Parts: sequence; C-alpha cells; structure tokens
Amino acid sequence: MNYRKVYLKKGKEESLKRFHPWVFSGAIQRMEGEPEEGEVVSLFTSEKQFIASGHYQIGSIAVRVLSFQDEPIDSSFWLKRLSVAYQLRCAIGVAENPNNNTYRLVHGEGDNLPGLVIDVYGKTAVVQAHSVGMHVCRMEIAEALKQVMAGVVENIYYKSETTLPYKAELGQENGFIYGGSADNVALENGLKFHVDWLKGQKTGFFVDQRENRALLERYAKGRSVLNMFCYTGGFSFYAMRGGAKLVHSVDSSAKAIDLTNQNVALNFPGDSRHEAYAEDAFKYLDRMGDQYDLIILDPPAFAKHKDALRNALQGYRKLNAKAFEKIKPGGILFTFSCSQVVTKDHFRTAVFTAAAMSGRSVRILHQLTQPADHPVNIYHPEGEYLKGLVLYVE
Ligand code: SAH
Repeated sequence: MNYRKVYLKKGKEESLKRFHPWVFSGAIQRMEGEPEEGEVVSLFTSEKQFIASGHYQIGSIAVRVLSFQDEPIDSSFWLKRLSVAYQLRCAIGVAENPNNNTYRLVHGEGDNLPGLVIDVYGKTAVVQAHSVGMHVCRMEIAEALKQVMAGVVENIYYKSETTLPYKAELGQENGFIYGGSADNVALENGLKFHVDWLKGQKTGFFVDQRENRALLERYAKGRSVLNMFCYTGGFSFYAMRGGAKLVHSVDSSAKAIDLTNQNVALNFPGDSRHEAYAEDAFKYLDRMGDQYDLIILDPPAFAKHKDALRNALQGYRKLNAKAFEKIKPGGILFTFSCSQVVTKDHFRTAVFTAAAMSGRSVRILHQLTQPADHPVNIYHPEGEYLKGLVLYVE
C-alpha cells in the first residue's frame, strides 16, 4: 500500500511477529517525512520488509496496529472488522437476544481495533475513540456500523470528549453523528435501565458487569445487600429480582444516586426494599452497622498508571478490610478491581491481606473476570482488566 513508511530499529519487530498490536516510540528507527497524528502508516523491519500497518500518534505508543497484512484501511476494511465483531456477539448470545440489547460490539485490541470502543444500547450505538486515528476514521466507522447493524442500530452517538489525547487539540465535542433519539432505555438480561450517554461515565453504563450481576442475582435471596459504588444501580436491580430482603445502594455521586433510583423504579415501581445514599464509601463503611450479609465493592480504577500501583493496592486492602470487619457471619462479598495495572495476583494478595487483618475464615467461591463481549486478544494480554472475587465469610 502507498502509506508513509516507518522503519523499526533492528530486532524491534519481534513483538509484531507475535502479533502484539503496539509499537512504542523507542522502537522506531526513522520515518518517511513527518506523519500527521492519526495517519495510517506502514511498518517495515530494519531489513525493509513490510510487517504491519496502523495508526500513528505522538506518545509512548507510536503506532497501533490495524492489520498485519499489506491491505488498504478503507470502507471494506471497517466493514469486515465490524462484521466479525457482530458475528462474535451473536455467537455468544448477547446480540439478537429478545432479553438483552446491551453489549460491547467493539473492545479495542480484543477486536483487533486498537483505540476503538463501541457499545450498543438497543437502537443506539455509542462510539468512543481512544486514539487520534480512530477519531479521524469516525465517519467511515459510522458508515460501516450502519451497514453491519442495519435494522438494529438507528442512532450513533460519538462520545470522545474525554478519551482523546488532550495535546492533539482536536476540540472534539460529544454528539449524535447519525440519527438522534431521546429514548434511552436499554435492556440487560430482561432488566431495564436508563443510559445516560450524554453525560454518564464511560459510554453511559458499565456493560462489563453483566454476567457478574447475573451471578449475584443467584445469591441474593433473603439477603440484606449493600451495593457500594453502585453508579446507575446495576447490581441493585439484579439483587432485587433475586429476592433480596433489602438493598442499599451507595455512591458518592448524587447524579448516580438519582439514576439508580430511576432505574429501580423502572423495574420495581413502588418497591420499598430499596434505598440509595449519596455518600463517600469509606464514610459509609465506617458508620454502617453489621446488618449486611451480601456486599458488593466495585470501586473505580484506583490505579490508572503503574506509578500508582502501591497506593492502589493499599486502597483495595483498606476497602476490603472494612467489608470483612462488618459483614455478617455467613455473608458473601463480591469484590472487584477494574485497574488494568493491578494484576489478578496483586488483587488477590490485597484482598488476602485484608481478610487476614480481620482474622475471619474466608473462602473463594468464584473468580470473576470480564464477559465474552470484552474479549482478550491472546496476543495482547494487557486487555484483561476486570478482576473479581466472590468470597464466603464465616
Ligand atoms: N458498580 C457500578 C460501576 C461502578 S463505577 C455498575 O455496576 O454500574 C465506580 C463508581 O464509584 C462511580 O459511580 C463513582 O461515582 C463512584 N465513586 C468514586 N469514588 C467514590 C467514593 N469515594 N465513594 C463512593 N463512591 C465513589
């Protein structure tokens, strides 16, 4: 293809030979001229052999690989990749399912599309670019999306105001790039919820907890549930459907608490088992009693970068210690970490330390991760980010 050529230093093609999709800036020997941010470039080894093509960007990850073949990155490329992604979602049963119309259609590297996230909520798809290249291609991507999801998706909302590099000065604003609908009620496993794609966090809902919420439902019967860091209340309405005795939802954001109340009312109008509190997690855990026998801890990422790892682990330790201190004997704790830099082992050690501090007998019932619509590319293990433990506390 006639893309600008980028030559790698000797030996720096090794990770690409193993299909890892990132090229760090330090691996580059020289470039033909000066590529623009977001431009497609072709990567060559020091022996001048083509090895991959991808989006160029200024920063530590200089190229995000789109293809290991010398092919054009054009409308048929996007069509092909999005079709494969949609087929996968049909195969795993989250798409074309009368009980569920909420799922992640594209999960970046997990779908061989680094820098791109697409979540589907009923008739609306929310597209989020995390790289300049995906931002540049957004209209082509939207065209392909319309074709692949014809009859399903009628609106496309582009939401990249906070996910694009600030320095690229793209001045991007959120908004519909196709259609436009105020109907924002979506369905997950038969439960309804409002998605705030306009102002909400991420693409408007945490799609990645679907299966873990379904598991929680199985444990909820007759229990007193605390859903800490509830956001829009996902775990709460599953607990209610599962027959919980009472459900208390807590989040420091008053907006999140409003949304939780609305979502509970949407599914269980007038149900007095639910109460929600806008309060800081640590304050609430300190002041609460020992009435809960099912606790969910799903905090925001405590570490976004490697440097913050130590503090993050301390955060997980403290948080979980409070739950172990207060949970009723025979209680069940669902505890999560969504920090990418915190490994499964790190997290388990932090929770283990917290358990030991409480001196209680604790068993691991389940080890949880992200669902199949957030696939991990086997060549990009960094894509595994969600970790959870379900614990039985004697
Ligand atoms: N469990 C949710 C997702 C949680 S996201 C779901 O299933 O959808 C993390 C949430 O933690 C956010 O809503 C954020 O507002 C909240 N949060 C962040 N810091 C907090 C704190 N110190 N105390 C309580 N909530 C906090």
